[in-house]
Amino acid sequence: MKPIAFARAETVDQALAAVTARPNTVFLAGGTTLVDMLRIGAMEPDNVVDINRLPLTDLEHRPDGGLRIGAMVRMSEVAADPGVVERFPFLSIALAKGASAQIRNMASMGGNLMQRVRCPQFRDIAYACNKRVPGSGCGAQEGLHRGNAVLGTSEHCFAMHPSDMAVPLTALDAVVQVQGPRGTRAIAFDDFFLLPGDTPHLEHPITADELIVRIDVPPLPFARNSHYLKVRDRESYEFAAASAAVALELTDGAVRDVRIGLGGVATKPWRAKMAEALLIGKPATKENFAAAAATELAAADGSHEMNRFKIELAQRTMVRTLETVTAQITQRGGRK
Ligand SMILES: Cc1cc2nc3c(=O)[nH]c(=O)nc-3n(C[C@H](O)[C@H](O)[C@H](O)COP(=O)(O)OP(=O)(O)OC[C@H]3O[C@@H](n4cnc5c(N)ncnc54)[C@H](O)[C@@H]3O)c2cc1C
Repeated sequence: MKPIAFARAETVDQALAAVTARPNTVFLAGGTTLVDMLRIGAMEPDNVVDINRLPLTDLEHRPDGGLRIGAMVRMSEVAADPGVVERFPFLSIALAKGASAQIRNMASMGGNLMQRVRCPQFRDIAYACNKRVPGSGCGAQEGLHRGNAVLGTSEHCFAMHPSDMAVPLTALDAVVQVQGPRGTRAIAFDDFFLLPGDTPHLEHPITADELIVRIDVPPLPFARNSHYLKVRDRESYEFAAASAAVALELTDGAVRDVRIGLGGVATKPWRAKMAEALLIGKPATKENFAAAAATELAAADGSHEMNRFKIELAQRTMVRTLETVTAQITQRGGRK
């Protein structure tokens, strides 16, 4: 590993000054992604700025029912927060099903959004990877790609976005608040993750000198009726083969409103907007859920042998999650 200069910031201004003062500087939060990247040579910064002492650790329930989550709040804290458990259960479940207890205690919410893909070819510098070295090719096309994406793919990259918590956050229309030397800006969650297209090395619309300071979650009262289902090869310490985050509102057995996110199957946290649009106003039946899921996956990329199973798995995962939330609402005997 090459030598790297280290600095520790106490304030956001110090962190921004440190990152602008020297080129090729990155922020260090919990380090659970970054240290791996440094070890395997997939990221090669000259300088690291530790942001663990920044006062970005507040988890605030807003009077309007929304949430404000500081970028340095740890995953485990948000997962266990009683207000999150009650009002945004799918966010709590998704966080609790990510990684391991030790990693969740270290990993920050901001770092989770910026985590890097798990494609084996990205993580092994012996292979070509357009994301790691633009224009070098995609070793996954002929290599190991069982975990890769079937939605949002391009010929240059089909690495799967690995975050669990980002799946309910996309369903919630969260907003990423960013601060940099040119001021602050709010980025809609769906815009925060770029599709690979011709430029898979560009993953987010922020520059190296911009810091995520907060994630804002707008109020969504019917998110009380929500669930996150993560299907994976083993029940612990494993990324999703497919996952679904669903929040549902029913009136007299019909879908009044619905939010659906998909994970494990797409190159970015996937908002299933086609499925949502199809379901609104329809009876909450398995047949309608299956039709909506089939529509969402109709354009999925089935050109790779090892991960083709995800097209069916994603549909089943979405249907089962919709059924689970419907059953929860029915058990509560409500029109909620
Ligand atoms: C073995 C293992 C299993 C895992 N399993 C899962 C899983 O099942 N589900 C899941 O969702 N995740 C999983 N993860 C990923 C884990 O959640 C992330 O590593 C973690 O959330 C990253 O947060 P961090 O604070 O450690 O970030 P760091 O490692 O410190 O940083 C990650 C990246 O984000 C940048 N960064 C950090 N904070 C900011 C900020 N505020 N603004 C701008 N840039 C920033 C850093 O510069 C770096 O590039 C797993 C990780 C490991 C190692």
